[in-house]
Amino acid sequence: MVTAQELLWLLKRQVKMDKPVVKHENPFKVLISTVISQRTRDENTAKASGKLFSKYSTPQELSEAPVEVIENLIKNSGYFRVKANYVKKISEMIVRDFGGVTPSTVDELLVLPGVGRKTANCVLVYGFEKPAIPVDVHVHRISNRIGIIKTETPDDSEVALEKFLPEKYWIEINQLMVRHGQQTCLPRNPKCSVCLLERKCVYGRNQK
Ligand code: SF4
Repeated sequence: MVTAQELLWLLKRQVKMDKPVVKHENPFKVLISTVISQRTRDENTAKASGKLFSKYSTPQELSEAPVEVIENLIKNSGYFRVKANYVKKISEMIVRDFGGVTPSTVDELLVLPGVGRKTANCVLVYGFEKPAIPVDVHVHRISNRIGIIKTETPDDSEVALEKFLPEKYWIEINQLMVRHGQQTCLPRNPKCSVCLLERKCVYGRNQK
C-alpha cells in the first residue's frame, strides 16, 4: 500500500497544476464561489462568480441586493435560483449573526444555508489557509480506488483521510486530487496506463 508521503510525491509529479482549483481570495468570496460551484463546471463557476463580485463583493452589499439581480448575475451556474437564495441568506446571516465577518470554524459555517462539510472545509483551506480536507466526488472516488480508505460516503472519507494523512498534507490534498480526477483518474475510464500511481493503486493494479 502507498504511504501518505509517496502519495503526495506521486500526485505532485502526475498532476498539471495549470490554474488553482479555488482562487485564493478573501474567505467570504471563497464561501460564495464554492456555493456557486456546486454541480457546476469550473468555467461556469468562474463566470458566475466574476459577474457577481464585479457588482457586489461584501456580505453587507449582497445582503441588500435584490435576489432577482443575484439570480441574473449567477445564471451561468446550475441551480442558480436556489443558489441566489443561499447567497442572499448567507450574506444576511453573516451580517446579522457574525458581525459581517465570515466565520472560520466548520461548526459555525455549517449553520449557513447551502453549506455542507465540503464547502465549509473549502473555506478553511482556501479562505483561511487552515488545515482541513474538503472531500468532493473526486477526492472520495480517487482515495477509494487507490485503496488508502474504504468508505461509502464523502463524509466518511473525510474522517478516514484525516487518519491516513498527516495534517501537514491536508491543505494541498484537495487541489491535487481534484486535478488528478479531471486529468487522469476520470470518473469513467481512468487512464491507469499513464498514471504514475498505477503500481501503488489497488484499482490500477487490478486492471492488468
Ligand atoms: S492507477 Fe488508475 S485508478 Fe489508480 S489513481 Fe491512477 S488513474 Fe486512478
